[in-house]
Amino acid sequence: MKKFNHKNSLIGIFLNQTQKEILLNNNSLSKFFFDKIQFIYPILKIYSNFKFKDIELTLIDEKNEIVFLKKISELLPNSISNDKDIDEVYFSYFNGVYPLLSIPLTKELDERHQNFLSQYSYSENLPSGIIPKFISREFIQSLPNDENLNFHDYLIKNINHFDVEIFFKEPDLRQYRLDFSLASHESFILTESLIQKKYNLEYEDILNLLKKDPNLFRISPFYLEIELYRGCENTCTFCPRQFQKLENDFSGIEISTIDKLVSSMNTDFPFKYTVCFGGLGEPFLHKNFNKISEIFLKEENLKELIVETSLYPELEFIKEKISNLETFKNKLCFIINLSTITESSYKKIYSKSILSEQLKKIDFLAEIFGKSQIHVQM
Ligand code: SF4
Repeated sequence: MKKFNHKNSLIGIFLNQTQKEILLNNNSLSKFFFDKIQFIYPILKIYSNFKFKDIELTLIDEKNEIVFLKKISELLPNSISNDKDIDEVYFSYFNGVYPLLSIPLTKELDERHQNFLSQYSYSENLPSGIIPKFISREFIQSLPNDENLNFHDYLIKNINHFDVEIFFKEPDLRQYRLDFSLASHESFILTESLIQKKYNLEYEDILNLLKKDPNLFRISPFYLEIELYRGCENTCTFCPRQFQKLENDFSGIEISTIDKLVSSMNTDFPFKYTVCFGGLGEPFLHKNFNKISEIFLKEENLKELIVETSLYPELEFIKEKISNLETFKNKLCFIINLSTITESSYKKIYSKSILSEQLKKIDFLAEIFGKSQIHVQM
């Protein structure tokens, strides 16, 4: 493989609205990021959609990530390959502020990107905020004209069409779902706490620090699973209720308990969280399903309310239960117990011939809330 001169041509930094708001309130971690960028790429120009204080950069005032990337690609220099089939020009892309940016790992992947003449280089196992992506002009120019596109998902779906370098580094921290790109308040607190523990922190230090002090990253419950209602008259063959004592059946959580829970989340854990109405019972059977859902959905910190349901009982009943929830459609999602769409298998699993009725209920929900908010559990 022919090696070209260093053609990493510029640095692109894109921030979404949440990241901008976080930085407007507290910019203290940006210095760590820009000092490292300056060290790795002292001569590269920086382009960003956020004006960082005291940092020399060119502002591209753009809210849409795809449009931002396309604008960046137009600023790239010409190829020097003298080969019309080879465009070696690429740039470093950061979708956030990375105070824990790893200098050695960034250099390593950048070098691989050049050596293998990749079109897109990234890591699958490093948490966001440790290294940038390296993206070629060829890749950006191949993106469809769709401003709602998630370019990384597009790459994954079309991975065989591109030369991709996937970087793997031990330790694999994926199970901790960490984020160091200041994408949320939790990410900011975690990143700041790690820097306070060790100023010149390197990637390999993180796991030890987290093991020694798990409170660093377990700062708040981010997922609350609530059994809204205990009880269900279905007889699914796989139901764990058949192995349980059912003496507490037909009981539901009181609204006052939900009020207390919400208020204590607001006071003790003022971070984004998800609620799931799950457990062993049908949430729609709770007499105050609509009221309780609304209490959560109105909360600013609620990211998503997930309802695990067998869509039971009849459609009219469900319609009434969700009549007040349409305005919250982006935050509400349903996971529906539907293990098959074959009539005979359905009857075997659920001991009922109601598949067509169930499909009608799903269509009804999809019409109101959109297909992307409906999932099936199989
Ligand atoms: S719908 Fe859920 S709770 Fe009811 S019987 Fe089936 S698996 Fe059990």
